[in-house]
Amino acid sequence: MDSYDHLIGIEGLQVMGIDLPAFADGLPGGFFIYEAHGEERILFANRQMADIFSCESVNEFLDLVGGTFPGLVYHHDRLRVENSIWSQINSGDSSDPSHRDHVTYRVVDKNGVLRYIDEYGRLVQDTKLGDLFFVFVAEISSAKGAIASDGRNLVHPHVSVDVDALTGLPSMRYYHSHTSEVLARASIEGTPMVDVYFDVDHFRTINFRLGYEGGDEVLQHVASILQDCFPKDLLARFSDDHFVLVTRREGLEDRLTHVHDRVSRMVSGMPVEIKAGIFELSPNDVTIPFAHDRAKVACNAIKGRYDQFYRFYDDSLSINEELRDYIINHIEQAAEQGWIRNYYQPVVRVATRTCCSVEALSRWFDPELGMLPPAQYIHVLEEARLIHLLDRAVINRSCADIKLTLKRLGTAVPVSLNFSPSALAIVDVPALVDETVRRYDIPKKLVHVEITESSLTEDPELLRSVIKRLHTLGYDVWMDDFGSGYSSLNLLKDYDFDVLKVDMEFLRGMEGNKKSRTIVHSITNLAHSLNMTTLVEGVETEGQLAFLNTVGADRAQGFLFSEPIPYEAIIGDFFLRYPPERL
Ligand code: C2E
Ligand code: MG
Ligand code: MG
Repeated sequence: MDSYDHLIGIEGLQVMGIDLPAFADGLPGGFFIYEAHGEERILFANRQMADIFSCESVNEFLDLVGGTFPGLVYHHDRLRVENSIWSQINSGDSSDPSHRDHVTYRVVDKNGVLRYIDEYGRLVQDTKLGDLFFVFVAEISSAKGAIASDGRNLVHPHVSVDVDALTGLPSMRYYHSHTSEVLARASIEGTPMVDVYFDVDHFRTINFRLGYEGGDEVLQHVASILQDCFPKDLLARFSDDHFVLVTRREGLEDRLTHVHDRVSRMVSGMPVEIKAGIFELSPNDVTIPFAHDRAKVACNAIKGRYDQFYRFYDDSLSINEELRDYIINHIEQAAEQGWIRNYYQPVVRVATRTCCSVEALSRWFDPELGMLPPAQYIHVLEEARLIHLLDRAVINRSCADIKLTLKRLGTAVPVSLNFSPSALAIVDVPALVDETVRRYDIPKKLVHVEITESSLTEDPELLRSVIKRLHTLGYDVWMDDFGSGYSSLNLLKDYDFDVLKVDMEFLRGMEGNKKSRTIVHSITNLAHSLNMTTLVEGVETEGQLAFLNTVGADRAQGFLFSEPIPYEAIIGDFFLRYPPERL
C-alpha cells in the first residue's frame, strides 16, 4: 500500500464516512482531488492514478505531472478540457447532487505513451480548503504508435456529441436542446435576454498565416476568453470560427468590449478581430433559430468593418435581407437584360498624364430600385456563389466596348477586370477570359486581370495555377488593393504579378503623415526591384499626384482624374483631357 505522504492538508478527510486513503484504494479506477482555482494543485491521488501513468508510486506520478491538474492533461487537450469542465459546471444546477462534468482527454505516461482517459468530476466546497474537484478517472485505451507527432485530429471518437471536440464548449446540438430551458428560467425571473452570434473576421487569413494548428489554437483561446467573460451562460461553438451565446441583456456592451480587447491582443503581431451580432429575445414570440438567424445577419452587416465590432439587429437589416434575396433571385435576369452595366475608371500615367488603361467597375441599374453600387451586391453574390454570373456579364461588355473603340478610334486602351476570390473557385477564369477575348477577336494585351489581395489567402494552390495559366495564355495579372490585407509582403514572394495596385488607404492623410509617404515610396522601389509596375489607387488631389511623381510611381487612378463613368464618357470627354496611349 502507498504511504500517502503526498496528502496535502487533507489528512483525516472523510468521504461518505470512510477514511479517504482506504476509500480511494478500493476504487476500480483512478481517483484524485485538486484545487479548483489557482494552480489547480493536486492534493490527493490514489494508487491507480500512478498505474495509469506507468509510475511506481503516487509520488513519482505527482513529480511527473508537476503536481497540478493542467500538468496531467496532454498539452494539446488542455484548453479544451478546462473550457469543457467549466462550461458544464457553470451551466448546470450546482445544488443538484448528481451534477458533474464529464470529459475525455489524453495523458502521456512515464514512457511517453499517449493514453485516452474518461473523467467524471464534481465540484465540492470544503469549508477549510475551498473549492475542490473530486475526480474519478477510467482509462479507455492507450494508443501506442497511433498518434501523429503533432497530436492533431486524434480526439477520441467517444467524445460526446454534446461537446465540441476542438474547444470543449457545448456543441450546436447541446445548445439547441438547452436554450429553451435557459429562456424559460429567464422568463420566470423577468430577465431580458439576448442571442449573440460571434464570428472571427478573416479567419482564413489567420489559418493561412499560422497554419491549421495555429488556427485551432486561436479558436481554443477565443473559446476560453468567451468562457471567461460569460462564465454563467450557455455558450457553444457552432462551426469553424462561429460561436453563439445566450446571455442577459444587462451590461452586455461592457462584456463584449472586454472580449474584443482580449481577442485582439491574443496573437502578438497580428490583431484578431472578433465581431458580434446581437438579437434581443422576447421569450414569447420568437423561436431560437429565428433569433439566431437575426443575430447572424447583424454580425454579417459589420464584417470587414474596422469601426464597429458589435451590432444589434434592427429592422433596417431586414430590409437588407430583402435586398439580398432580391439580388440572388434576379442576378440572371439582370445579366441577361442589361441591368448590369460597365462603368470605367481611367488610369493615368503619372509622368505624362496620358490615359494608359481603364478599370471596368460594374453598376446594377435596377428597373425598380434604381442604381445599386457594387457594395450592395458583390458580397451577396459572392456568398451565394453566383458572382461568376456578374463577372461573365462584365467581361462580355468590356470586350464588346474594346471592339467598338478599336472600330471608332482605330486604337483602344486596355481594360482591367476584377475577379472575386470565389469566382476563381467556381469558374475557370483563364478559360473564360481567353474564350471571350477570342470570340470578340481583340488583342490579348487589351485585357488585364485584377486579383484582390485578400483572395490570395483563400486557396494558394488554385491561385498560383490561375495566375500561371493567365500568363501562359498571354494576359497580364495585377494585384489589387495591395497592402489592405495582413500578408502583403509574403505574397510578393510567392506569386508573379505584372502590376501592383497600391491600396488607397496609404494615401489617406498622406499630406500630414511622413510615414505614409515613406511607405508609398518604399513600396514603389520594392515593386520596381521586383520588375513590377506600380499603380496607386485613390488619388484625389494634385498634391498627392505631385508626390507620386517625385517617388517615381508609374500610374495613378482616382477621383482627381475621374470617378467610374460610362463608356461613352470615356471615349468622349475623358480622352479629350487625358489622351489615350496608342497601341
Ligand atoms: P476596386 O477594384 O479596388 O475598385 C476601386 C473602388 O474604389 C471603386 O469603387 C472606385 O469607385 C473607388 N475609387 C476609385 N478612386 C477613388 C478615389 O479617389 N477615392 C475614393 N474614395 N474611392 C475611389 P466601386 O466601383 O464601388 O467598387 C468597389 C469594389 O467592388 C471594387 O474595388 C471591386 O473590388 C468590386 N467590383 C466592382 N465592380 C466589380 C465587378 O464587376 N466584378 C467584381 N468581381 N468586383 C467588382
Ligand atoms: Mg479593382
Ligand atoms: Mg482596388
